[in-house]
Amino acid sequence: MNTPPPSPRPVAPERVLVIGAGIVGACTALELQSAGMAVTLIDAGDPAGGTTGGNAGLISVDSCLPIALPGLLRQLPGLLGDADGPLSIDPAMLLRRFGWFWDRLLSTRMARTLAISDALRALHVGAIDDYRRLLGPDFDALVQTRGQWHVRAATTMSDTDRVIDVLRMRHGVRTQEVADDDLQRRLPGLAPAMRRGTWMPDNAHTVDPAALTRGLVQRFTQLGGQWTTRRVRALQVDGGGAVGVATDAGELRPQAVVVCAGMQAQALLAPLGVNLPLLAERGYHAQLPPQDGLPEVPVLFKSHGFVLTPMRQGPRLAGKAEITAPDAPPNERRMQGMLEQARRCWPALRVEGVVFWRGDRPSTADSLPVIGPVLPAAPRLLVAGGHGHTGLTGAPMTARIVRAQLQGLPSPIDARPYALARFQRLQRSH
Ligand SMILES: Cc1cc2nc3c(=O)[nH]c(=O)nc-3n(C[C@H](O)[C@H](O)[C@H](O)COP(=O)(O)OP(=O)(O)OC[C@H]3O[C@@H](n4cnc5c(N)ncnc54)[C@H](O)[C@@H]3O)c2cc1C
Repeated sequence: MNTPPPSPRPVAPERVLVIGAGIVGACTALELQSAGMAVTLIDAGDPAGGTTGGNAGLISVDSCLPIALPGLLRQLPGLLGDADGPLSIDPAMLLRRFGWFWDRLLSTRMARTLAISDALRALHVGAIDDYRRLLGPDFDALVQTRGQWHVRAATTMSDTDRVIDVLRMRHGVRTQEVADDDLQRRLPGLAPAMRRGTWMPDNAHTVDPAALTRGLVQRFTQLGGQWTTRRVRALQVDGGGAVGVATDAGELRPQAVVVCAGMQAQALLAPLGVNLPLLAERGYHAQLPPQDGLPEVPVLFKSHGFVLTPMRQGPRLAGKAEITAPDAPPNERRMQGMLEQARRCWPALRVEGVVFWRGDRPSTADSLPVIGPVLPAAPRLLVAGGHGHTGLTGAPMTARIVRAQLQGLPSPIDARPYALARFQRLQRSH
């Protein structure tokens, strides 16, 4: 009996357009270019001009914690009652995007939490090695592999802390618990009220997320990739599944398109009937003046929802999450509140000449990004976005998944948890 010949592997597209030069687009363009595809990277502005440039710089390979954990419902009144707390929600948004909040609540069931945690860890665990490969000789100047501190005031373990421990143990995340005098010895200058610390030795940070992204784009162009500044106005799909891209400087007809447009991906895809369920979780940073006496590694103040990261231009305080109308002005009170909290946590912190910034985390309800094709009629229209709080960490593996999908090769990790279809399944089961 003749065995049928193996079905031919889909041929990788030769001409690929990557839309968006944030960290996700920059990693993706470079990964595809180094696989031998002819890639054009397009952005309405400069690389890292979106959320990426202002982030906290953490490359948290430990990251296996969904943003919402079991017990969320119980904690919500306390969380929302604190105007300076880590999270604030405009009640009008709660009504307007009720489906998103409902999905977030459903994602806190334990079985789902474990599955999300596994998918987060798989996406993040190799980030440092991937950046080393992608950045080449620039890696050492841009990335510090020195660890991170997580500190808090409370000395007792909450139920949430116990869930966090379970998830970290599940993934073999290395941690060291340090308290009181030991913590003061290792972090001199930390307010004594901060009594508990967790040392995360395997994490890293970049000293400049914008320069890191620009470095990736520069390597991409050195490899022959095309960089162009244009705004994409619309995507069109023809009967054969080909994607046309209308820009403010004419139409492009690549063989494949990867949409890495951060929050704007939603608006680009909606006219094609694709519902990308993203919600903007606004965050802030405060760029502080260069100063001595601060740790050389990031310190995350877990109960306050911000981090102090040593950057090239001086320490950067970054974090907070705010769900509000997209056009709402920056919340002055929350920005000043973050500064005051930071000075209570680190009394000698100097803040003169502070420069504030705000940015939108493109967030899904289940903390996982959307990676892969999103329209059956156009298998070569892919999305890579929705990385929420951990896009800098998740971008390199995202790029490897996209590369495998376009080449028709086995995915480096199981890509099913990141498929858009998970939301469609969820919607059907409600
Ligand atoms: C305060 C804060 C702190 C954070 N800290 C960390 C951290 O420490 N570690 C971490 O891993 N993550 C962190 N994040 C999350 C991380 O920054 C994001 O997940 C990530 O930057 C998202 O990257 P992106 O490439 O998807 O989007 P973006 O960086 O927003 O890039 C999208 C790009 O697409 C372009 N674009 C959009 N529409 C169009 C169009 N129509 N035509 C052409 N171009 C277009 C934009 O100009 C932009 O350059 C933080 C976020 C915030 C807000």
